[in-house]
Amino acid sequence: MRLLLIIVSLLFCLPIGAPAALYTVTKVDDRLYAAIVDPVGPVASNAFIIVTPTSVLVAGAHFTAAAAAEITRIVAGITPLPLRSVILTHHHQGCRTIDFGFPPTVEIITSTQTWGKLKAEQQPLYNHIVAFDKELTINGGKQTIMLRNMEQGHAEGNLVVYLPEQSVLFTSDLLFNNEAGFMADGSARGWVQDLLLLEDLVVTNVVPGRGKVTDSGGLRRFRAFLQDFFTEVLGHLERGESAPETVQGFRFPPEKNPLHFSGYQRKSIEWAWKELQKQR
Ligand SMILES: [Zn+2]
Repeated sequence: MRLLLIIVSLLFCLPIGAPAALYTVTKVDDRLYAAIVDPVGPVASNAFIIVTPTSVLVAGAHFTAAAAAEITRIVAGITPLPLRSVILTHHHQGCRTIDFGFPPTVEIITSTQTWGKLKAEQQPLYNHIVAFDKELTINGGKQTIMLRNMEQGHAEGNLVVYLPEQSVLFTSDLLFNNEAGFMADGSARGWVQDLLLLEDLVVTNVVPGRGKVTDSGGLRRFRAFLQDFFTEVLGHLERGESAPETVQGFRFPPEKNPLHFSGYQRKSIEWAWKELQKQR
């Protein structure tokens, strides 16, 4: 029952009663940390913490007020340097209370598409905003932080963070590593194309939107899962089945299912069916 409540809350972007710890922190490199969410916890997406010589940047999305508060506490536990910026990797339209929880002293850096979605929520946002179209490079002392707007994929205007000195990539929700995640807002074709582009990057570590820190193998595995998933849905579509019929008749070998996929399966199939129908 608790799992059901959590899944319903995630699907409708609703915060629920917070447990003691929303994230587990893993050190990725000298000044880089991954904040990994509990697979059945109330926060839907991992965060990535970058400590530069002068300040701290946090990247991620799906920040409930409790998640923003916990990330702020985590940063304070790592370093006395101030949390200066949140790199908001994406925002799902309609999640009005999500991604609005950081104090006004924190700057929000995001894509122009994500900034447009935040404005459309009609929720006041008092933070200083930096929005960019394609790419933005931040030089923080000895740390170079490259942001790339991937345009489509998990959500329109989703961006990734790449640190060339360490060859570390933070994909946010463009990659789910052996764990199911929210798939109901992006572009099926764009998502696969984004992953193919990211597979060409030289990386030592990849911090995903869900699941543990991985490497380029994690990108390839998830892309293969997406392609198998879309192929299965397309088969139903080509047999003339409606979205509800596809949900009903969908069969996937259990070994291909990521952890907790059953909780996301129906929404994911409905979204994929619509996306693939558009592209036919
Ligand atoms: Zn997301």
